[in-house]
Amino acid sequence: MLTCSICSSNRTNKICNVKGFTVYECFNCSNAFTHPAPDITKYENEDFHNKTGDNTIMSVSHLPPDWQRLIRLQLSIIESSISLESRILEIGCGEGILLNELKKKGYNVTGIEPSVTAAKRGITKGLEIHCTYFEENTLSTKYDLIILSHVFEHIKGIGHFSNLLKQQLAKSGVLMLTQTNYKGLIPRIRKRNWYAWVPDQHFYHFTIKGLEYIFGDYNLEKQEYITLVHPKNWLYWFARFIPRLQDQFIITLRKSDKIRPV
Ligand SMILES: [Zn+2]
Repeated sequence: MLTCSICSSNRTNKICNVKGFTVYECFNCSNAFTHPAPDITKYENEDFHNKTGDNTIMSVSHLPPDWQRLIRLQLSIIESSISLESRILEIGCGEGILLNELKKKGYNVTGIEPSVTAAKRGITKGLEIHCTYFEENTLSTKYDLIILSHVFEHIKGIGHFSNLLKQQLAKSGVLMLTQTNYKGLIPRIRKRNWYAWVPDQHFYHFTIKGLEYIFGDYNLEKQEYITLVHPKNWLYWFARFIPRLQDQFIITLRKSDKIRPV
């Protein structure tokens, strides 16, 4: 029995062994964690969207259909709840595929991306992208919306990171997180064979309930489940019919300006 590295509860249970690591779930906070914790990846040398090393500029149409579906869903959530004069920051924006779509719609967008090559391609598109880590940024602006898509699980010190997020959000600002759902049908059935564990980079694995635990003084405003890219077998289609069994979700959380009772 291991202690949960998020909530310190010892009500944890092993889910599976993956690539030399073990994933444990926590019954108290509903999150899961990788043990031992992986080494910190140097993301300045990585390039998530472009593994080939050439300088091809990517847009939404270059992405697999399910990724395009994710971007369309993110755009529709933002358009329905965030006004055009809002300032938007995406942390870990890659080459700014989502930001570029938001910019075309008239939003004021900024990105933070440690990958040198991805940030460079984004800047080529005319986007304001700062090539650094969020924890090291020197932006003095406060943002009305901060977006993180499949980024939060890569952060070792999520307590410190969450506090910085709160400082960078404007009053009543919104946080939009896209994460995998390790309690979805496909990870439950495929266990160690679910491709999204990535234990050498992912410190944590979340659920909506688990993120509500971490962001205790934020108010959950919207949740949407969506399926990751998978071979189109029966599991994929079955999970698509039952939203909470899908293995990816988007949530928006609004920062509360009320003082928490001690
Ligand atoms: Zn926990």
